[in-house]
Amino acid sequence: MKKVTVLLGCAAAFLFVACQTSGPQPSRADAGRGPANVTAQRLLDAEREPSQWMTYNGSYSEQHYSRLTQITRDNVKNLGLAWFSDYDTNLQQQGQPLFIDGVIYVSTAWTKVYAYDAKTGKQLWQYDPKTPGQTIRRVCCGIVNRGIAAYHGKIYVATLEGRLVAIDAKTGKEAWSTQTVDPAKQYTITGAPRVAKGLVFIGTSGGEFGIRGYVGAYDADTGKEVWRFYTVPRNPAEGQENKALEMAAATWGNGNDWWAIGGGGSVWDAIVYDPKTDFLYFGTGNGTPWNQHYRDPSGGDNLFLASIVAVKASTGEYVWHYQTTPGDTWDYDAVSPMMTADIAIDGKPRHVVMQPCKNGFMYVLDAKTGELLRANAFTDVNWADGVDLKTGRPRVVADARYADKAWNLAPGVQGAHGWHSNAFSPDTGLIYIATQEAYFTMALDPTYKRALVGANNGARFNAELPGAKVGFTGYLQAWDPVAGKSVWKSESNQGPTGGALTTATGLVFQGNGNGQPASVVNTNAVGVGPGAKPQLRAFDARTGEKLWAFDVQTGILSSPITYELEGVQYVAVSVGAAVQGGDYYAPNYSRLLVFKANGTAALPPTKPYTARPLDPPPSTASADVLKLGEARYAQNCSICHGDNGNVRGANFPNLTRTPLLHAQEAFDAVVLQGVLNTRGMASFADTLTPQESQAVRAYLVKRANDLKSATAAGAPVPSQNGAGTIEPGRQ
Ligand code: CA
Repeated sequence: MKKVTVLLGCAAAFLFVACQTSGPQPSRADAGRGPANVTAQRLLDAEREPSQWMTYNGSYSEQHYSRLTQITRDNVKNLGLAWFSDYDTNLQQQGQPLFIDGVIYVSTAWTKVYAYDAKTGKQLWQYDPKTPGQTIRRVCCGIVNRGIAAYHGKIYVATLEGRLVAIDAKTGKEAWSTQTVDPAKQYTITGAPRVAKGLVFIGTSGGEFGIRGYVGAYDADTGKEVWRFYTVPRNPAEGQENKALEMAAATWGNGNDWWAIGGGGSVWDAIVYDPKTDFLYFGTGNGTPWNQHYRDPSGGDNLFLASIVAVKASTGEYVWHYQTTPGDTWDYDAVSPMMTADIAIDGKPRHVVMQPCKNGFMYVLDAKTGELLRANAFTDVNWADGVDLKTGRPRVVADARYADKAWNLAPGVQGAHGWHSNAFSPDTGLIYIATQEAYFTMALDPTYKRALVGANNGARFNAELPGAKVGFTGYLQAWDPVAGKSVWKSESNQGPTGGALTTATGLVFQGNGNGQPASVVNTNAVGVGPGAKPQLRAFDARTGEKLWAFDVQTGILSSPITYELEGVQYVAVSVGAAVQGGDYYAPNYSRLLVFKANGTAALPPTKPYTARPLDPPPSTASADVLKLGEARYAQNCSICHGDNGNVRGANFPNLTRTPLLHAQEAFDAVVLQGVLNTRGMASFADTLTPQESQAVRAYLVKRANDLKSATAAGAPVPSQNGAGTIEPGRQ
């Protein structure tokens, strides 16, 4: 059995908040005086300036809803490509663009940031933080970045290795840079910063690797840290930093030194500022390790893991929390995108926070108090029978904790929902959720030992459970958060599906992930297509009728935005993700696409592609060498390159097909000498000996030969848990 070890971290994002807390506020008349001239007032009024997309998810409510009305259900069929621009990477694109006064800003893989003249598509500048390739060893789920913030002439981005950077929006040059994490620890950042009250807010990733989670606020002008809120306690012997953490510490047992590897609770995605309450809401991730049996055998709630937390935005002082998954043992991060909204519940107007959670329940909470108002399963859920609205606690199915035997978990660790933006329409009252139906087999890993380098799960990924459901599919779902009911669903695609945008004209725009129909059986072989047709679609927000679609040629996961320039409404989206069965080597066409009515630009034809052959040298290694290679592969390589070396190719090469299998010298040049460091494949010379590198190669050669035989015999390709990818929650 394998212990899977994670080697990479995730970058955090930061937000900027307007600086002025006293004196006259800048007015909207300031608009247009320079690039990214986003003032505190403009951010507060973003919903009244729908021509712009100035902040992540469109406005402070993060409803991803636009009041623009030019593109309608009747004329959306006329949308065409206005222009496009290629990125310089074939990695996955998760970045949500901003549009400010005629300029589009967008972040891409490796936390690069681009600025474009929105009218012509001309690139104005590109910023490269020159993230060290070594960072990828701390990244669980891809060299990705989800977004940026803008304020007072600066663009803010959080780099993969944990810096918060302010970029001069005019020149693309770095204005300041703050190291927000301890570089000696396994922190990374992939999320988008937010700005409010003159502060930039950002958290971190790394919950699988051994970190202590926190969210920080940094001065937007200088980058100086103003406050930090830790999400889990530290060693009780040191005392806690505040009363909230004293309360949290009481929910952790003292019989196990869980603090030695940080505890987890990373704030890797959702951060929402609410001007109505002046609170900052954020979600927290899993504990370290995942399995509570090893993390804290006392079985306490382990606050503030898997929780939605509210703090005062100016000071970081705790206000309330709601723990979605007490004593989490399933990697059920509560970090999925959140939004605030004003809706009627039981006949009363309520100002609420909403989150379709990774654990499968859609939560509606009072924004001021955290009172639980609704909790309904929005996909297949079997770890709990439901949630008691009086106590706020889930009714957990005891066997689901996989203490004695394996459990076929739903939603699996891929989650019911990932980082993909949801959208809420105040007109329809529906929330449009990038939903996942996910299954995974969980079993206790009896060999688990803490890892200071690599992942801490404490759960087996390859447990035998005959008849278990595996894999996951994604679809867009319109959900009534008050009635707790599904209203419509799109067709399903394999793996995750894209983020959503909704408009005042009753449209929802959304991409279908890899575009591979869920009905096609994924054998984990390379090149599942033909049949994959990734598209950006437009749906009728009330009925789900598909009104328009555009073939984007590559996977589409990021969220579209819309804006108006010189009287014309546009829709823009970043695309780029593996399409052909998760083949890293297949072309993926990472691009920014911009649409308008009757746009006539055309994408160049796709390049012909044939998957690399499965052509390993003969397997001649001894059983002992293979055993060593399997163990060292599992610990050092599997999180990126897949269990067994044959899956999880979307962001990383499939090593059963690499030509490096034919020569140890070439294999060592990459694995030990780090010749591909700048592409993210850092040297492992500090954790692998030359003998172990040989054993890893021998193991991969054996795996490739096994796969070749199985394929020749027409047998299904072995896999764990439907394999493919488990990116969505692993940050
Ligand atoms: Ca996680």
